[in-house]
Amino acid sequence: MFDPRRAQLAQVFAQCYGSEPTQWVRAPGRVDLMGSHTDYNQGFVLTLPIDRDTWIAARPTDARRVRLVSLNLDEAAEFNLDDPAPTTTGFARYVQGVAMILHREGFFPLTGFDAVIHSTVPLRSGLSSSAALEAATAVLLAALGGFNVEPVRLAKLCQRAENEIVGMQCGILDQYSSILGRAGTAVVLDCRQLTHRNAPLPTDVHIVICNTCAPRELAGSEYGERRAQCEEGARQLGVAYLRDVSIEQFARRERELSPVVARRCRFIIEESGRVGGLAHALTQNDRAAIGRLTAASYAGARDLFEIGAPAMDAMMRAMLGSPGVIGARQTGAGFGGCLVAFVQEGELEPFVAHVQRQYVAETGMTPEVYPVSAADGAEVLPG
Ligand code: ADP
Ligand code: MG
Repeated sequence: MFDPRRAQLAQVFAQCYGSEPTQWVRAPGRVDLMGSHTDYNQGFVLTLPIDRDTWIAARPTDARRVRLVSLNLDEAAEFNLDDPAPTTTGFARYVQGVAMILHREGFFPLTGFDAVIHSTVPLRSGLSSSAALEAATAVLLAALGGFNVEPVRLAKLCQRAENEIVGMQCGILDQYSSILGRAGTAVVLDCRQLTHRNAPLPTDVHIVICNTCAPRELAGSEYGERRAQCEEGARQLGVAYLRDVSIEQFARRERELSPVVARRCRFIIEESGRVGGLAHALTQNDRAAIGRLTAASYAGARDLFEIGAPAMDAMMRAMLGSPGVIGARQTGAGFGGCLVAFVQEGELEPFVAHVQRQYVAETGMTPEVYPVSAADGAEVLPG
């Protein structure tokens, strides 16, 4: 069957490299339905790998060189697999990072290749285009080298690439979701055990992404600060991670902490506790609980963890005032980016139209609003 996306990638590949791609891979973005910033506190997250993904069309070469073109950025880059330190900046750093970590871990052989990258995950919007690029790269290198990596290990290696080579101290959520997700289900991820269980979604509820499309300048620096504050809280509470503290234990010790650190800790502990609650509410199709838990999550993110933004408030108002809405909250790290709504079946079109109208009227910015469904994790595509 004719696939316009595949045709476009093949055409660009031919223009750039004068040949046809022989290896195709894909890896999805994700939306966290509950559990903001809980991953690096070794807590729980309810996450959904989505049907927006990153594709790489590639062809192995005899050289040690890797050449890359991103259709999203209209940029090219290259590096050598034997470079002892990262030589790239920007998007290529994610690809080089994965190659470097696999190399350091002794995966062999790593094969040079030419590639064209294209993603339908919006970049820098909190749906994890970075992990999708890492996961697709890892699957590509394994396919070209003919080696297998156990999926949880692969997720950890991709996370290390982002931590150590890109320099972003993210938790495991994004890479785990992109690699271990399965079509048709959300998953409750235990970020300590690195295991998950499926969490079925109601069939008559849409999951709708509402992208504020607002610039996210703070996301990098503030992320690191939140993480440090959580670590400080855990240290003062005498535990390794906030995962180790129940809300009752926390309430007894809360006043020993500085007000800011106490707010951060309270949010994480409550938020991690809401994960099981929302998974259960979705399984039961308990609309009132979905509304209550998502509202509490948003309020905590805004007032306790302080990762809100005026555009997020405007989007929440638009979502909660629209037909068919069951619940809504932030997704990703915050400071703008995307939000997510649960919307009654049959109300999708009026919901989308109303959110767009109200958000534009209030902010003057044009949002992107679309439903997503649960997709398979990273994989080799048929050639
Ligand atoms: P998010 O993961 O929420 O999308 P990040 O800031 O973590 O946001 O990652 C976004 C970065 O990942 C981009 O700025 C770019 O460097 C890189 N990236 C991801 N996907 C692509 C792509 N398809 N083409 C080029 N760069 C990409
Ligand atoms: Mg990212």
